[in-house]
Amino acid sequence: MKISEMLKTRRTVSFEFFPPKKEEGENVLYETIKELVDYKPDFVSVTYGAGGSTQEKTVEWTTHIKKVHGLTTMMHLTCVAADEDSIDRITGAVDAINVQNLLALRGDYPADMPIEQRGGKFRYASDLVAYLRKKHGDKYCLGVAGYPEGHPEASGMDADIENLKRKLDAGGDFIISQLFFDNEHYFRYMDRLEKAGITAPVVAGIMPIINIAQVVRFTQMCGATVPQYLVEKMDGKSEKNQFMTGVEYAVEQCRGLLAAGVAGLHFYTLNKHGATEAVLDRIR
Ligand SMILES: Cc1cc2nc3c(=O)[nH]c(=O)nc-3n(C[C@H](O)[C@H](O)[C@H](O)COP(=O)(O)OP(=O)(O)OC[C@H]3O[C@@H](n4cnc5c(N)ncnc54)[C@H](O)[C@@H]3O)c2cc1C
Repeated sequence: MKISEMLKTRRTVSFEFFPPKKEEGENVLYETIKELVDYKPDFVSVTYGAGGSTQEKTVEWTTHIKKVHGLTTMMHLTCVAADEDSIDRITGAVDAINVQNLLALRGDYPADMPIEQRGGKFRYASDLVAYLRKKHGDKYCLGVAGYPEGHPEASGMDADIENLKRKLDAGGDFIISQLFFDNEHYFRYMDRLEKAGITAPVVAGIMPIINIAQVVRFTQMCGATVPQYLVEKMDGKSEKNQFMTGVEYAVEQCRGLLAAGVAGLHFYTLNKHGATEAVLDRIR
């Protein structure tokens, strides 16, 4: 089923997984998916390695989740360093497993890619959305990424929202947000989108924090911020203590978003099930 159709009738709950590189990680992910299936997600998504390392794995995991668990799936697809042939190969694989939902992304350039080789046919995610729509019409439901705190490369929030609008005008159906930890960022973002005439649903990206040091490192790269008081509360605390604080915080965050009428909650699971389960047990 297309996610855009679901979003017309209900608030979605979804989970994001990434394809592990090692066998040990794969075993963890098999277990994680088995556990989380019981929570009946509206859809699950599988990330795609822009650098090329795990692209086949993305198709394999998407196939596994769809065939073994019968879940609606969305495959992420990035376009940096891609050409029409490589995108066509991937959509061919997607069609073979009858996946109707794609998250159309630019991705990040590999650090070792020379500047002169960057750009090309697909410079921005909007180019990928336009290509997919031109070639495939309405076959796919296309999600795009949005950044409540702005994308790190954007010259400002207004420019970033203009660029988001380009993706939607090219044929994007809905938005999944970058993770954020302060709902005020999301609420301000929604106000700005409304002023810019953007009406597409925005599914909120949620990451329950279970290891504050790891999340602080990770968010520095993607431009999201962690509230300082949360860092101070969790830093140096035991694993169990951080887990409980992180879950409690995410529960309150989700409750606030649900009360404000959020379109859906998309959990960045990091391939673990405990924290996502604990949050859902409390909010459902
Ligand atoms: C929900 C979600 C899932 C993700 N999944 C993955 C994944 O599976 N694999 C992965 O590698 N990465 C993933 N990412 C990270 C993403 O690839 C990076 O954030 C990347 O830097 C930007 O991708 P984008 O699709 O938002 O790019 P774009 O929308 O192309 O934007 C990139 C930058 O260019 C600017 N821009 C866009 N259009 C124009 C224009 N016409 N002129 C000038 N500037 C412009 C934007 O403002 C922004 O600063 C994900 C991010 C999110 C939020």
